[in-house]
Amino acid sequence: MASLHLIVHYHEIILKGKNRYIFVNKLIENLKDVLNPAGVKGIREEQGRIIGDIPHGIDLNTIKERTSRVFGIANFAMASATDTHVEAIKNGALKQLEREAFDTFRVSTKRVYKKYPLSSMEVDRLVGAYIKEKMGKSVDLTHPQKTLFVEILKDRAYLYTERFHGAGGLPVSTGGTLVSLLSGGIDSPVAAYRMMKRGCKIIFVHFHSYPYLSRTSQEKVQDIVEILSQYQGASKLYLVPFGDIQKEIVLSVPHKYRIVLYRRMMMRIAGRIATNEKALALVTGESLGQVSSQTLENITTIEQAAPLPVMRPLIGMDKQEIIDQAKSIGTYEISIIPDQDCCQLFIPKHPAVRTHTGEIEKIESSLPIEELIEMGIKGSQILTIKAY
Ligand code: ATP
Ligand code: MG
Repeated sequence: MASLHLIVHYHEIILKGKNRYIFVNKLIENLKDVLNPAGVKGIREEQGRIIGDIPHGIDLNTIKERTSRVFGIANFAMASATDTHVEAIKNGALKQLEREAFDTFRVSTKRVYKKYPLSSMEVDRLVGAYIKEKMGKSVDLTHPQKTLFVEILKDRAYLYTERFHGAGGLPVSTGGTLVSLLSGGIDSPVAAYRMMKRGCKIIFVHFHSYPYLSRTSQEKVQDIVEILSQYQGASKLYLVPFGDIQKEIVLSVPHKYRIVLYRRMMMRIAGRIATNEKALALVTGESLGQVSSQTLENITTIEQAAPLPVMRPLIGMDKQEIIDQAKSIGTYEISIIPDQDCCQLFIPKHPAVRTHTGEIEKIESSLPIEELIEMGIKGSQILTIKAY
């Protein structure tokens, strides 16, 4: 029986440039992380693609699902391998196609090993003629029901009929580390996902008001991080107790400024965690004008408390676009479970829509900022969450 292999084609961008090896090695590492536990062995580079060996009896659906969530992949397939001699390819092609239903077909050969004695077209023709003769099927070059792909490498040829879309993007961890402020709502998981897709490794920080509010938000973010870990491997999650910090703010600050001050404290604490973790920036799910804390003025006032740059990948997106993406990532169903977000604690009916840094700094001057940051950091619980 022919051996079965996973064959991964990476994104064009990785094929070029000096950093190619960094990208390919990281992609191999990321694939090993999710596919070794599923039984795939020997994941390696072979002439511009990544190959893994799939032992007999392994669940191919699991392999397909896991591979489709690894960033940096253009497409992938499950291929059988044969010797490179054209007779071996013909036999392999027949064995493969005999298991499939179709009337018309074509052969599409890619000769990766340029010293191969036949051209790609010659292989197409020889294999095509053989299938036609043995199976009585007809060749259709423009709209075939089935395409047999043949990739000829130096020592082996790989044959497959189905190609799956990869997730695109860049391999996670090639773009540095970010700290994501994760609320349990719809937006922030999508924001984290988009930065992962650009090659960033994400560390998550969630602020909760337990025991003033229920534990639901903490349970939700753990489930969300588990889903997001499918895309980046094991993830670190900081659960920061925020209720006592909010109490301090409430005691010395006019009602309408509470939300903005809560957010500024979140920026400072997440920024401190980021510095400790050697992360280079923060990421939030803010989208311009979506709620009163996300006016241009308030976003600016909030940002000015952040010790590091703040990335906002959703800033120009509509709610519906964000919802659609949350659904396709798989976080939406968890995000919509009702919970008690920490920002609902002690909030006024009419929060300030336009704040300015000068006035906010004056109001904040009565707060023991450094002590509050320390309080949040010291009280944090740190979890490691895995998807598989
Ligand atoms: P989301 O859907 O992500 O909750 P939102 O539309 O509810 O966002 P806001 O409540 O204004 O918007 O929050 C803006 C951003 O602040 C969030 O996307 C998130 O990055 C961060 N944030 C808000 N609450 C928390 C929290 N409890 N813990 C961590 N980050 C938070
Ligand atoms: Mg929210």
